[in-house]
Amino acid sequence: MNTAVDRHWLQGALTNLEQEAARSADTHLLRVDLPAFPGIRVYFKDEASHPTGSLKHRLARSLFLYALCNGRLREGQGVIDASSGSTAISEAWFARLLGLRFKAVMPDCTAPGKVRLIRSLGAECVLLPSGMDPTAMARELAAAHDLCFLDQFGLAERATDWRSNNNIAESIVAQMAREPDPEPAWIVCGAGTGGTSATLGRYLRYRRLDTRVCVAEPTGGAFATGWRSRRADAVARAPTLVEGIGRPRVEPGFLFDVVDEVVEVDDVDSIAGAWLLEALLGRRYGGSSGTNLVACLALASAMRDQGRTGSIVSLLCDRGERYAETLFDPGWLQARGLDIAPSLDRLRSQLQPARP
Ligand SMILES: *Cc1c(COP(=O)(O)O)cnc(C)c1O
Repeated sequence: MNTAVDRHWLQGALTNLEQEAARSADTHLLRVDLPAFPGIRVYFKDEASHPTGSLKHRLARSLFLYALCNGRLREGQGVIDASSGSTAISEAWFARLLGLRFKAVMPDCTAPGKVRLIRSLGAECVLLPSGMDPTAMARELAAAHDLCFLDQFGLAERATDWRSNNNIAESIVAQMAREPDPEPAWIVCGAGTGGTSATLGRYLRYRRLDTRVCVAEPTGGAFATGWRSRRADAVARAPTLVEGIGRPRVEPGFLFDVVDEVVEVDDVDSIAGAWLLEALLGRRYGGSSGTNLVACLALASAMRDQGRTGSIVSLLCDRGERYAETLFDPGWLQARGLDIAPSLDRLRSQLQPARP
């Protein structure tokens, strides 16, 4: 039960979140011209342009709102979550906005740039060796120290208000309205918490659109395996170097029934895709954006082969600067035996218009 003092603080916190939303603008929908695919228009929604640099800005705001409105978060209480980094950056930022302490539980292979950013926001990072489960650890620490567990993997799909309230799907559909093919043939996204694919799939049905959802997944990831077999106990066949997607197991937010296609992408191709995005757009985005680009090219090729035209929309998930010491460092790639040159050549040749 809440006291009057608690309710007063809650109202202040909600006002704070509302003011932050009012100060922020929507993210850009960028069009990329690909002359190799006549009549097929490709768009990328730049989620890196949020104040905290990734699509997790939307999720973090929703998770705080969800915790507050469910009476699970009190004044002065600490907050905790498990993350591969991007969510923790956004959560740390919102925790600071609300004057709350935040603790992030992450795998120790998380890009160092992300860890520095989280600490600079005044949050604490708990780094776990591979093999330990960050979600289980976050839940344990929350119980032991009376912290509010934001639980992105457990709650992403329901904390997002999928019918409206500026979710990513509503924003894409509105921004496409004046384009030549306003109803996309495909929307392509990754699956980390599954929140984005669930919101897209639900919203497209709700709006009675024919747009299909494709999940771009690191080869052998649990979403791909689970989607194909429709099994919730599926596990990944291989780990991935792409942060944010390619989960080891099926997360509670993986709603297979609203996803129409899964394209699996090898890590070298995803990384080459991230490098190619820099050449196409003039700035860096992370590995999962590269995965999306490669999947978009596969879908565009299939459409061209079938003589179809139309639009494809995908996401730029986070800022590439975070990966300066990993995906964008030739020494780091070499140390892992990754040669992205052949993949880059192949992707570049896919972008060359066919000779008549
Ligand atoms: C979380 C994340 C995704 C996947 O989005 P979900 O909505 O969690 O499925 C993709 N890329 C990056 C960088 C992410 O952090």
